[in-house]
Amino acid sequence: MSGDKSINTNVNSTGNGRYDNLTGLPDRKYFYELSEAGCKKIAREGGKITFLFLDLSGMKFYNHRHGFEKGDALLVSFSDLLTEFFNKESCSRFEQDHFVVCTEGTGIEEKIRSLFVRWQSMNEPGSLSVRVGIYYADKDDTDVGLACDCAKLACDTLRNTYVSAISYYDDSLQEDFDRQHYIVSNIDKAIEEKWIKVYYQPIVRAINGRVCDEEALARWIDPVNGFMSPADFIPILEESKLIYKLDLFVVDEIINKIKNIREAGLVAVPQSVNLSRTDFDSCDIVDEICQRVDKAGIGRDLLTIEITESTIGTDFEFMKKQVERFRELGFQVWMDDFGSGYSSLDVLQSLEFDLIKFDMRFAQQLDNEGNGKIILTELMRMATALGLETVCEGVEKQEHVEFLKEIGCAKLQGYYYSKPIPYEQILERYEKGIQIGFENPEESEYFETVGRINLYDLSVIATEGNDSLSRYFSNLPMAIMEIDDGKLIITRSNKSYRDYLERLTGQIVSEDSEELTAMNEERMAYFIEMLNYADTETSPIFIDERLPDKSTVHTFIRKIATNPVTGNPAVAIGILAITDDSEGITYANIARSLATDYVNLFYVDLKTEDFIEYSSNLGKEELAVERHGKDFFAAAREDAAQYLYGPDVEPFVDKFTKENVIDSLEKQGTFALTYRMVTDEEPVYVLMKAMKMSHDDGHIIIGVSNIDKQMKQRETEENTRREQMMYKRFSALAGNFICIYSVNIATEQYYECSSTEDYDEFGLAKFGEKFFDKVNEDARRMIYVDDQALIKAVLTKENVLNTIENKGVFELQYRLLINGEPQKVHLKAVRVNEEDGDKLIVGVYI
Ligand code: C2E
Ligand code: MG
Ligand code: MG
Repeated sequence: MSGDKSINTNVNSTGNGRYDNLTGLPDRKYFYELSEAGCKKIAREGGKITFLFLDLSGMKFYNHRHGFEKGDALLVSFSDLLTEFFNKESCSRFEQDHFVVCTEGTGIEEKIRSLFVRWQSMNEPGSLSVRVGIYYADKDDTDVGLACDCAKLACDTLRNTYVSAISYYDDSLQEDFDRQHYIVSNIDKAIEEKWIKVYYQPIVRAINGRVCDEEALARWIDPVNGFMSPADFIPILEESKLIYKLDLFVVDEIINKIKNIREAGLVAVPQSVNLSRTDFDSCDIVDEICQRVDKAGIGRDLLTIEITESTIGTDFEFMKKQVERFRELGFQVWMDDFGSGYSSLDVLQSLEFDLIKFDMRFAQQLDNEGNGKIILTELMRMATALGLETVCEGVEKQEHVEFLKEIGCAKLQGYYYSKPIPYEQILERYEKGIQIGFENPEESEYFETVGRINLYDLSVIATEGNDSLSRYFSNLPMAIMEIDDGKLIITRSNKSYRDYLERLTGQIVSEDSEELTAMNEERMAYFIEMLNYADTETSPIFIDERLPDKSTVHTFIRKIATNPVTGNPAVAIGILAITDDSEGITYANIARSLATDYVNLFYVDLKTEDFIEYSSNLGKEELAVERHGKDFFAAAREDAAQYLYGPDVEPFVDKFTKENVIDSLEKQGTFALTYRMVTDEEPVYVLMKAMKMSHDDGHIIIGVSNIDKQMKQRETEENTRREQMMYKRFSALAGNFICIYSVNIATEQYYECSSTEDYDEFGLAKFGEKFFDKVNEDARRMIYVDDQALIKAVLTKENVLNTIENKGVFELQYRLLINGEPQKVHLKAVRVNEEDGDKLIVGVYI
């Protein structure tokens, strides 16, 4: 290109020039030297000093697709093109696919646009696009390094652009830049002069409303810029890898605070510090922190480490090791901002944390209509099942508190309780007596146990193996109570329990009414007796309580834990059913009401074991006597071998003994058993239920009813519910998903679980065969032309399965054509084991 006014080459007369091996362009250091002289020359001639930062978009994929050799060749051809437009000595390759140019800037935009056209024509089909940042330096003593940074800043604003484009550096970028510069160059001073202040935000135990932890959050109170919040300086310190200085300072401050608190005779609860990813690169942060804590003679359990899931996401194996090191040393490690990124699910599966902190967006979504509550309930259940404690941050309202308490969120953090405040203010609050009380650390474990129980899920308090109870999911009235000094205290309750008490007593029971005064004395005494009984029992007890209105309340009680300080037990109470049997269970009654439902009915004398069997033909109202017999239990076992479905015979014979029936009737009022009978060569579910007669004359009634429909329906409902929940979790965790597929690994049959409207526009089959072939076929019209070969090469069944086997997850980035525009998306696949075979869950996210 002629007419180029770029800086000339004879600056190289010192002979120190060094060139990039690949492209032959001056390397960074040499470019700086050349440009410094060049800038002076341009200024002297009254020109416009201009820096360009050029970035090839999609280079990584190009390498991935064609190999590094071809990638290198592409870089060389781009560099050749650059030197066609600009003097070679005014260009440089900084690293990878990043090029810079220092030139006189008249007509620069047209020039770059012609470069785009040339580049496009050289790279058929579909060249990589070029992003260009332009910075005009107006002083003649330009700091070349800074100028390049500015051009880069401008270029970086095009991060999400997939066509060749130009961006100019402007004042706001300048301000950003100045602030960055200020922060990076003043961090040491800010620490020394204590411009950095540590604020503390209480974390409150949901169940007792007391502060159980505090989080240290940094503030920068600057003599020039005033108050700065972490968003203003943390990302900058992270980028410049200086954040470790701040974080170690925060640790020092925490240590001082703990010492202070102890000297003041106050309770010290664990304090958490936030760590950033680069802390782990800048120093051995684990060792640095451990040394500081040990040197101060403070228990390691008093410092908690908070790490965000995005921190874990990069270099997973390394971070996993660091988390393990912290935990082995006795520090608690919490996962911060859970659910804010893409990787939550994988991370939770393969890394052990002590607690997960749900990102603020979950609390915010509670205010909206939609699935927010279900998702959070399910995630909470999952966390609890994994043995993790939970915190929700961003709790701002009473309603948030109530809901989170009910679903068993252990700890709460947010403005509802307090904003982050400096230590002096905490002390001030003490003096004024308005500080939220601290929890006695000796009671922490007890409260942890009691708080963890999800009042929406009785299976948590049901004993293992008793899965009939776990079916009573959802809104059973449930509460947790303690007895203190002969009084009943409701520690936690769900709405449905409070409604139940209200109905029972006619008094309103609010969430916060700790003491239960609504019951009459007699009932209270009975209840307390039962709770005390539960305290001595290791297994749950069932009580049937007749109320004045003659209905019967079937209650389930189980001891949860004992408070080590007060010695009081906490018990979980669930109301299983309220039966309105005001007429009393009489034989006639049952026979009349149940005749049509029951397949068989037996009237058994428990003493003699004589029995009468009635049966009903479907559709007939009347029961007919079928037979009179002796030795009922032996006869039943004999019948079992003949009429029951093979696999159910042995369990039936095992369980259906006279002892078991009597025992269960005594303890629970009924005896029930579900099994399958063979009718027309098909197994059919039936429920056998035994009840005592109300006038206890030693007789029982045993009814066998057909529950096949309900059981089968429940089976399918269970499966669907489980599947839906899984996809919901998956999408909740994964961010902005476009579509999710479930692919049967063995058969390659697939179906679409969920998709957005944009995606639906492609009009793809919602289910079908040969998933991988189909993807490649569809790729031609859905995927950006450049990335089609990548998909073809990488998205094969074999490759996906191998990658998952090695890494747990298969990930791929490519560009989808959404409304004709290429848009970067992430594809992720994980393997799940489902009842009907191993599946791949494949999700595509923005
Ligand atoms: P984080 O660790 O998730 O901290 C919680 C953030 O939420 C804090 O913001 C806190 O002030 C804010 N917050 C708490 N309750 C509420 C609420 O009810 N509503 C709303 N809207 N916000 C609430 P902050 O202090 O601005 O900190 C932001 C982030 O900066 C922190 O997020 C943390 O990731 C990082 N950070 C703060 N201090 C440090 C530090 O010393 N070192 C490192 N490495 N990172 C820090
Ligand atoms: Mg945090
Ligand atoms: Mg957080």
